[in-house]
Amino acid sequence: MSRMNDVPMRIAHHEAEGLLDDLGEALRLSAKVIAPNDSLGCVLAEDVVAPIDLPPFDNSAMDGFAYRHADLGDAGGRLPLVGEQFAGRDQGAALGQGECLRITTGAPLPQGADSVAIKEDCRVVDSEDHQTWVELPAGLKAGAHRRPAGEDAKAGDVVMSAGQVIDASRLGVLAALGLTSVTVASEPRVAVFSSGDELRPAGEPLAPGEIHDSNGPMLSALLAEEGIAIASLGSLPDDPAAIRSRLAEAAKDHDLIITCGGVSAGEKDHITATLAELGEIVFWKVRIKPGMPLLCGRIGDCAVLGLPGNPVSVLVTWLVFGRHLLDAMQGRSEPRPRLRARLSEALHKRHSRMEFQRGHLLVDEQGTLWIAPDPATPSNRLCAAAAANALFVVAEREQQLAKGAVVEVVPLRGFGV
Ligand code: AMP
Ligand code: MG
Repeated sequence: MSRMNDVPMRIAHHEAEGLLDDLGEALRLSAKVIAPNDSLGCVLAEDVVAPIDLPPFDNSAMDGFAYRHADLGDAGGRLPLVGEQFAGRDQGAALGQGECLRITTGAPLPQGADSVAIKEDCRVVDSEDHQTWVELPAGLKAGAHRRPAGEDAKAGDVVMSAGQVIDASRLGVLAALGLTSVTVASEPRVAVFSSGDELRPAGEPLAPGEIHDSNGPMLSALLAEEGIAIASLGSLPDDPAAIRSRLAEAAKDHDLIITCGGVSAGEKDHITATLAELGEIVFWKVRIKPGMPLLCGRIGDCAVLGLPGNPVSVLVTWLVFGRHLLDAMQGRSEPRPRLRARLSEALHKRHSRMEFQRGHLLVDEQGTLWIAPDPATPSNRLCAAAAANALFVVAEREQQLAKGAVVEVVPLRGFGV
């Protein structure tokens, strides 16, 4: 149990990030060994060392004719065709002096060959002595179209490092290396609670004063974007005893509890005091907009993020702080994408907090990125946030920004050109 007056409060964005790093480090998820085909989106817990060379053998980069460059020099000329080697099992074909061999892309280069002439640049001629000859053009370079063994990776190379995220191309590398297992961070067991007596799920009729729960489904989807299936534990009533028992229960078999609502100063905001009773508060309130009342703590070995209730605050605080905690818990070292863009219009901010505004990111014909601020800044305006394709950051204390000023941007999804 933490005494509230010891708790870091109204801290800066970077201080919150530092505390989330510490919490994530303390609650680092264990590693597990899985099949590479199941690893999309996972964070590597160990370096990946190549067990073999890639490519595993010298091979041809083109369909054409393998030959020894010294036989013709740069002049080109005719060589007798003595065999073929297609992509597949190495037939052990060898090339004598002054000979060439038909070859396809990916086929092992025969012994003695060091270069490949492209099929389309050569002419095949059958002569009267039943010998097939190939005319190779002038100007060929020694070593042309030869892909040496180990050019892409050598056996023993670290090809990926712990902390990197496995995407499709990296998963392809694991397969190319022939690996059948990979060590990754376990995914956290996440419980999500909405909170508030006013909430009803979609499908249930709304009595006067009630609204549909949008944060719960949105958080499930935000976690799904991270490849994490959550336990959706419904909505907490604005009742301290019920909140206490349901949070305590969820903390027993989850690594992270995310709540939304009930963390500001209202009479019915009971999450902060309940967390202080059940566990420990790491920080409460960050000098940002939206999402100022953000709460972070732990109950035993379960991290707790108390997101503010307004839907745009949920979106922003999850993207900016929730993902940061998740990354720290999984040991992810690769930062989330951040861009820089120019403001398409001047902006006046009436407060000194750091603000994550919503905007529309565009690229002009010169390749300059522009961000057009969305005028709907209130944190309940989820439709406006859903139409935007980026967040942009107005730094703490910065209040007047001129048109063209460069701001940091958090891209949300594919943005139009
Ligand atoms: P609170 O922080 O609990 O006072 O909530 C702030 C605002 O967010 C209020 O207008 C709530 O009705 C709204 N809100 C809280 N939780 C949700 C939710 N799960 N879905 C939609 N709106 C919510
Ligand atoms: Mg509430």
